[in-house]
Amino acid sequence: MYYEVSCYSCKVVFKVYEGSLAYKQFKERKTKMFTCDDCQHRIRLEAINNFFR
Ligand SMILES: [Zn+2]
Repeated sequence: MYYEVSCYSCKVVFKVYEGSLAYKQFKERKTKMFTCDDCQHRIRLEAINNFFR
């Protein structure tokens, strides 16, 4: 069981599988902003870079 959502950053469509945090958020409609693994990784790196700036 999974949902297909699109990444708000790069617009790629990816799957969120049952049991994952994104799946839970989608189901509970807590957010419409989903990021794929690549963007999640990139955003995390940018956050770290900003932190040390
Ligand atoms: Zn993305």
